[in-house]
Amino acid sequence: MKIAFVLALLAATLFSGTALGREPRGRPTAGRSLIELTGPDGPVRGRLELRTSDAAWLTDDLGALHALPLAGVREFRRVDDCFAPLPTPAAAARLRAESDDDAAVFATRHYLVVRHASRTPGTFGAKLERIYASVTGWFARHGVRPREPEFPLIAVVHPSFASFAAAAAAEGASPSPQSVPRALKGYYSPISNRLSVWEPPGGAGDASFEATLIHEAVHQIAFNTGLHHRTGGTPRWVAEGLATALEAPAFLSAAGSVRPSDRVNPGRLHRFRTEPHADGYLDALVAGPHGDDLIGRDSLTFYGEAWAFTFFLMHTRGDRYARYLRSVGETTAADADDPAARRAAFHAAFGVAPGRLEGELARFVAAL
Ligand SMILES: [Zn+2]
Repeated sequence: MKIAFVLALLAATLFSGTALGREPRGRPTAGRSLIELTGPDGPVRGRLELRTSDAAWLTDDLGALHALPLAGVREFRRVDDCFAPLPTPAAAARLRAESDDDAAVFATRHYLVVRHASRTPGTFGAKLERIYASVTGWFARHGVRPREPEFPLIAVVHPSFASFAAAAAAEGASPSPQSVPRALKGYYSPISNRLSVWEPPGGAGDASFEATLIHEAVHQIAFNTGLHHRTGGTPRWVAEGLATALEAPAFLSAAGSVRPSDRVNPGRLHRFRTEPHADGYLDALVAGPHGDDLIGRDSLTFYGEAWAFTFFLMHTRGDRYARYLRSVGETTAADADDPAARRAAFHAAFGVAPGRLEGELARFVAAL
């Protein structure tokens, strides 16, 4: 088949009238077809998630995304009228088959946890479910009920840094296992939709391991419950601000105080307090020339600012912040993502430009 013909067919039969990427929330998976696109690396099957001007995004039955440049698509066919996620037992069996011989897969209500069987059975599933309940509960209390995830949330707990680094390189998170920094304790990939961590020798009780697990779990929850969109469009300060705000154990403790001063993330607060902040730094954070690009910026300063602003918004304007995330979660790779669009989205949610909140934020932080 000629490329032009394939593209015309794609446009006519798949994309027309579906307004991809702008569908109402909570769309049913039934009724959307299972298709197969054949690109340079062979066929990929899944549901069409989004089409941009130059790529088609497919979601496969385990929840991973595949972005195929349209120019490379040689063939497409409709495999079935209905796409369906793999049922959890089949998903667990597939994960088990692709893992090392000594790995085990544990299922909880929302999670499939892949773990090294030689370690003492841990409580990762229960811990992740508690994080899930806390994060979604916060948004529900502020008027935005997060969606149930469509796919099981996959968490892979590697027994060693070497195994973690090999998997990170295989997933494309790093060019080679050798180039994975040893300080990296875990990550979440919106493409594979998996959370990956490596368990330190001290086990899961290690405090920085715990913080990493919560941080990456928050990213995964946000990307699977409609607070961020997996094809893109979530400003980095939003994603990192939410994860750093919630990584402080006190924030997620159901029994803990709700006073802001009891819920701070001490490391981020210290960083924010000890750095100078130029006038207009919040405008730059939300819609500045750097955008998501950390080049020329110290990443810990960026994280400190993202944490402080998010923590402040959650405590002073929680309902508006929750609605802002819901609107950010509808922004896909097909939408314009430029400073003007980011400024407009912020203004629509909070009724003010970010920079106008600098004085109030300074007083809020001083009182913590
Ligand atoms: Zn992060």
